[in-house]
Amino acid sequence: MPGYRGRFAPTPSGPLHFGSLVAALASFLDARRVGGEWLLRIEDVDPPRCPPGTGDTIRDQLEAYGLTWDGPVMTQSERDGPYQAALARLAEQGLAYPCSCSRKEWHDHPIYPGWCRTGPLHPERAMAWRLRSDLGARPVGWHDRLFGEQRFDPAALGDVVLKRKEGLWSYQLAVVVDDAEQGISDVVRGADLLDNTPWQLQLQAALDHPQPRYLHLPLIVAANGQKLSKQNRAAALPVEGDAPRDYLHQALVALDQAPPRELATAPVADQLSEAIAAWDPARLHSEAKRQTPDPA
Ligand code: GLU
Repeated sequence: MPGYRGRFAPTPSGPLHFGSLVAALASFLDARRVGGEWLLRIEDVDPPRCPPGTGDTIRDQLEAYGLTWDGPVMTQSERDGPYQAALARLAEQGLAYPCSCSRKEWHDHPIYPGWCRTGPLHPERAMAWRLRSDLGARPVGWHDRLFGEQRFDPAALGDVVLKRKEGLWSYQLAVVVDDAEQGISDVVRGADLLDNTPWQLQLQAALDHPQPRYLHLPLIVAANGQKLSKQNRAAALPVEGDAPRDYLHQALVALDQAPPRELATAPVADQLSEAIAAWDPARLHSEAKRQTPDPA
C-alpha cells in the first residue's frame, strides 16, 4: 500500500511484556505485509515514571524479536518545542485553557466539571492546561478496523489535561503531534486506548492534522483475568537464547494468526517472514485474550 506508515510507541515505564509484544508485532506485521514503513517512538513524556535506560532495554527487546524499525527513533522528552507550538495553536482558538483545580477539589464528579473554562479559579496557583472538549469537533467518529464504527462525544469524556501543572506534556497531545510529524497513516495499538481516541481525533481536527486509520487490538490479560501492565509487573519479555521463539509464536497465536505449529521453535526471522506473508487482520477476534506463556 503506497504511503503506509505505522509505528510502535511504547512508554518506557518498564521493559516490554507479552502484551506489548502483541501490540508491536501486530503493527509491524500490518506495515510489512503491505511493504510499508514501521517507526519506533519512545513515549517518555513522564520522566519520573520512566527509569533511565528503559528505552535502550526496549530497543534490545525489539531487536531480539526481529522487530526492526525504519529510520531514526523519535523520543518525546526531546520535543518540547513542537508540543508548545501545538498548545499555543489550541489556546489561540480557545480550545485550550489554564486550569488551577486540583483533583481533590473535583473528586466527587465523574469528570472534571470545567470550572476554569472561563478563567482560572485560583490564578495564584500553578496551572495545568486542559482541552475545551465541548468546543472542539463533536461528535467524533472513526471506522475501527477491528471494533467497527465508533462514535463518541469527547465532551462526555471530559476536558482532558494537555500539559500538567508540573510542566509535563500529556500523552494525548504528544501522540497527536508526533503521529502527524512522523506521517503515520495507520495506528495499530491495544484496545485499552480505544476511549482515548476521541480526544486525539478532536486534537487532530483542531490542529489540521490528517486522521490516521485505526486498528485497536484485543487486550491481553493475565492468566487471572487482570490487565497486563508494567504496573502489575507483567514479566519482562526474555531476550536470551531461544526464549524469544516461543514467545513470538504465542504472540501470533494471541493475534489469531494460526501460525504453523512446526514453526514454534524456528528462529524469529523465519517465523516473521511466514507471519508477514500470512498476516490477516480479518482473523482477529475482539474479545480479551489470556496470556499464554507463564510469566517467569
Ligand atoms: N505509549 C502508549 C503506551 O505505551 C501507546 C501509545 C499509542 O500507541 O498511541 O501505552
